Amino acid sequence: NLSSKLDKAFKTLKGQGRISDINVAATVKEIRKALVDADVNYKVAKTVTDKIRDEALGKEVLISVQPGQLLVKIVHEELTKLMGETKQDINIKGDPAIILIAGLQGSGKTTFSGKLANYLKKTGRNVLLVACDIYRPAAIDQLKVLGEQVGVEVYAEPENKNAVQIAKNAIQHAKNTNKKIVIVDTAGRLAIDEQMMREIAEVKKAIAPTETLFVVDSMTGQDAVNTAKTFNERLNFDGVVLTKLDGDSRGGAALSIRSVVEKPIKFISTGEKMEAIDLFYPDRMASRILGMGDVISLVEKAQQAFDEDEARRINQQIRKNQFNFDDFISQLEQIKKMGNIKDLVSMIPGVSKMMKDVEIDDDAFKPIEAIIRSMTKKERANPDMIDGSRRRRIAAGSGTSIQQVNNLMKQFGDMRKMMRSMSQMGSGKDALRKMK
Ligand code: GDP
Ligand code: MG
Repeated sequence: NLSSKLDKAFKTLKGQGRISDINVAATVKEIRKALVDADVNYKVAKTVTDKIRDEALGKEVLISVQPGQLLVKIVHEELTKLMGETKQDINIKGDPAIILIAGLQGSGKTTFSGKLANYLKKTGRNVLLVACDIYRPAAIDQLKVLGEQVGVEVYAEPENKNAVQIAKNAIQHAKNTNKKIVIVDTAGRLAIDEQMMREIAEVKKAIAPTETLFVVDSMTGQDAVNTAKTFNERLNFDGVVLTKLDGDSRGGAALSIRSVVEKPIKFISTGEKMEAIDLFYPDRMASRILGMGDVISLVEKAQQAFDEDEARRINQQIRKNQFNFDDFISQLEQIKKMGNIKDLVSMIPGVSKMMKDVEIDDDAFKPIEAIIRSMTKKERANPDMIDGSRRRRIAAGSGTSIQQVNNLMKQFGDMRKMMRSMSQMGSGKDALRKMK
């Protein structure tokens, strides 16, 4: 029943206003595991989580948000920062702008070249695709099919076995035909080999691309880092394209690559269709890596929906020991405003701690609300004046029992005391603002 639910909830109302060593240690361990599971390089994961621990310790916590959730938010912000904070566009200045595509065989270079051509063409630019994979005749056909599909010309010299020469000829052709962007698709090997590295380095030197993009399969996990390192040493590329993110890969490679080679990820590829290309948004990838998108969005939702001024006013009331039934109802209303009560109730000041671990649905609040609504204005503002005869009247008016009214009064009194002592501890004073 309601009373035992509240009882149980109050037991969990032990001040947890600050992120302590203990809950940080456990959570940090969990986060590190989540990162490694998401294919983040172990060393990178350790550095990240050490940083996060230092950041989190002692940070003041909004009373409405549990420390664990705040910690996740800190982690999310840290990962976002590590991956470059904001999206980074490719450089397409130049006449023509030249984009060189490099990477291992099967990483998705040719597919991405088609997508990028499509993407840039849609911005109104005149694009040329160049087939520089001289080792597999099928590679030329593959690019031609994609070119046709997206309506972009494909330059190829099927008889020519000199990639550098083909690339140079293609640039000349682009100039002759007034193309503004040239995308050069190159050959790849199953593993890094010297001949391939030399060839692509020579192509790069010959055509001086505006932008060199390294394409890497996100499913290759830890290997991706080593490949990226080797390519970067030889090519000093400008950006990374992470492919096959439509699979189960959680994208940890993004974080590792970014940390190890310090080059921005610029695009992600999420399928075989020509439309399956996206700019890289560090914050979205951070959510994906954490696999905790729900928690994060809930925290953010709670922050958005919860009226800050009202929260501050209620905090004031608590401090002055004047928290009353009007404030209580106001909190309940805010909870409802936020939608799914089960998900959100754990984030609301006072009520959150009170209701923690309690089975909650909309109905759980009904008797409470009925009781409070049966109080007079004066009674709500001054709970102390509600004596025995008033309780009888309130019970009758709300269709509840005197027992229920008594219980609520008792719980409310306890809650007030608890809130007061919590607020004296200083938790969450201006934390709402701090978290923004
Ligand atoms: P390349 O050897 O680097 O040129 O790689 P390809 O572009 O030929 O791609 C190799 C394979 O991966 C092909 O079967 C593509 O259809 C597939 N592929 C490429 N990008 C993606 C992607 O983002 N998602 C999925 N699921 N498959 C992809
Ligand atoms: Mg290819």
